[in-house]
Amino acid sequence: MIDLKRNSKGEFVEATGLNSQAWRIYKPNQKKDFPISRSGFEDFKKCSRCFYLKIVKGFQEPGMPQFKLNELTDTLLKKEFDQCRKDRKPHRKFIEKGLDHIVPYDAGLTIIKNSKGEEKKLPLIDVWRDAKHHGLKRRFKDTNIILRGGIDDVWFNKKTKELIVVDYKSQASSKEVSQDTYFPKGGFHDSYKTQLNFYAYLIKGLNLKYKISDDSYLYVVNGLEVEKGFNGKIIFSETLIHHKVETDYLDGEIQEMINTINSNKIPTSNKSCKNCAYSRQRSVIDTL
Ligand code: SF4
Repeated sequence: MIDLKRNSKGEFVEATGLNSQAWRIYKPNQKKDFPISRSGFEDFKKCSRCFYLKIVKGFQEPGMPQFKLNELTDTLLKKEFDQCRKDRKPHRKFIEKGLDHIVPYDAGLTIIKNSKGEEKKLPLIDVWRDAKHHGLKRRFKDTNIILRGGIDDVWFNKKTKELIVVDYKSQASSKEVSQDTYFPKGGFHDSYKTQLNFYAYLIKGLNLKYKISDDSYLYVVNGLEVEKGFNGKIIFSETLIHHKVETDYLDGEIQEMINTINSNKIPTSNKSCKNCAYSRQRSVIDTL
């Protein structure tokens, strides 16, 4: 993908390939707290070399275009679930599925200070959702690593008094979305399982009064190609996909990630990566 660097005025500037924000770069064995996001952990799992080059060496990879349509469906779903939260009612999809004992969780309000030190009262669920400024945070054991992530939603099982981790997913596929086919062995949807597990792990670290349920859900909306054409509308099917949360294994994988960035040894690359293969081919002809 071609990604040209611009400054805040939209003017083209020279791309260095390095991150200029020093606080984003980790020095092996540093003592100062350092945040690692859920997506950072995912990067580590996909390729520990690229993760290391980014976190420790400060390499800056080309950006990706923003998926505005996906963001919009997330925003609209959040609005819909927030209304149910306010009304203390189950969502229509849950009523349809006979799950009317599950409602969006009302975590109450919390006070947040902005960068100027001004205090503001906000719904806690919105703070947990805000990956950029707050999100869910958990210190990993007694290390300086603060794990973080922005969750889409948390629901509450009134029967078991447990909290349920939720993520909204948007897609467009001609194949019907179903529990039986959503997680094919080794498919890329496996990273969604990690995502749900990671959020559950973060919430467990908050020591809330309710336990985290073993049940978690993806609320999948699938854009359909309909016969009558666009007419200013995209029709979506909506499917609840269940995932049984597992968090015990995460301690080991997170420790492995921390060991990696505390080492001066650069890990090996992932042989299946098309980006690295492309760079290798470029290096044959480029003398930049
Ligand atoms: S294989 Fe290379 S380009 Fe791909 S993720 Fe790893 S270091 Fe990055």
